[in-house]
Amino acid sequence: MSALLKISNITQTFSENGRHLTVLHDISMEVKQGEFLMILGPSGSGKSTLLRIMAGLMAPTSGKIITAPDTTHSFIFQSFALFPWLSVADNVGFGLKMQQRPEHEIKKIVAEEIARMGLEGFEKSFPRELSGGMKQRVGIARALAMKPSIIFLDEPFSALDSFTATKLRADLLKIWQEQNITLVMVTHLIDEAIQLGDRIAVLSNRPARIEHIFHNPISRPRDTRAEKFFELYDTINKVIKI
Ligand code: ADP
Ligand code: MG
Repeated sequence: MSALLKISNITQTFSENGRHLTVLHDISMEVKQGEFLMILGPSGSGKSTLLRIMAGLMAPTSGKIITAPDTTHSFIFQSFALFPWLSVADNVGFGLKMQQRPEHEIKKIVAEEIARMGLEGFEKSFPRELSGGMKQRVGIARALAMKPSIIFLDEPFSALDSFTATKLRADLLKIWQEQNITLVMVTHLIDEAIQLGDRIAVLSNRPARIEHIFHNPISRPRDTRAEKFFELYDTINKVIKI
């Protein structure tokens, strides 16, 4: 597998009122074409910061980010980050509109992604009228509408109840399996990392370094109650310091 994105020696220090907080220390890794990469770490370890740097949403204090030519990104947020003044359809089509794509094309893609995410009938609804799970469905549809090569997901299901999160995880996995898409997702849940990831990069406590990158050997569909699942859980748990 070739690398779509490579980060080298990323360090991030925040400075506020003369105080310095180093959040990321010398992080290097690559994202391979087509993989589902999980980044697992304790709360406050710098996961969101790392993901934002990888996605180019912020520049690191030092280090390099190299993307393969023609690589495009979308981002899915924990807090959904929908535009409250726009309908579901307009949220999904927002990026396409920014790209000044023709109206008929926007309509077609929006309809496809709305159908894919099970949002039919809600096209004209506003975010405030939707449940958390439905909001994140819009977030995913909005990301997919851009047909990006990589989607970055920052704890996308952690604001949802566990039933909704389970359903959305399954839906995301199906989409990833059906499409030629690369996913990089941050989580603080070991189970979620094992259930979804091909590789699991475990971060240390702040300042985050990569403790280890695990290759997930469990074939899909993954049974969360299988012995192999528990074995990997234990192995990761020994490395992670949550
Ligand atoms: P995580 O996503 O793993 O919970 P974050 O990347 O959000 O961690 O944050 C890591 C640390 O960096 C936290 O202590 C947070 O307060 C701090 N931090 C994040 N963004 C900023 C910022 N823009 N300015 C100052 N400190 C920040
Ligand atoms: Mg975070």
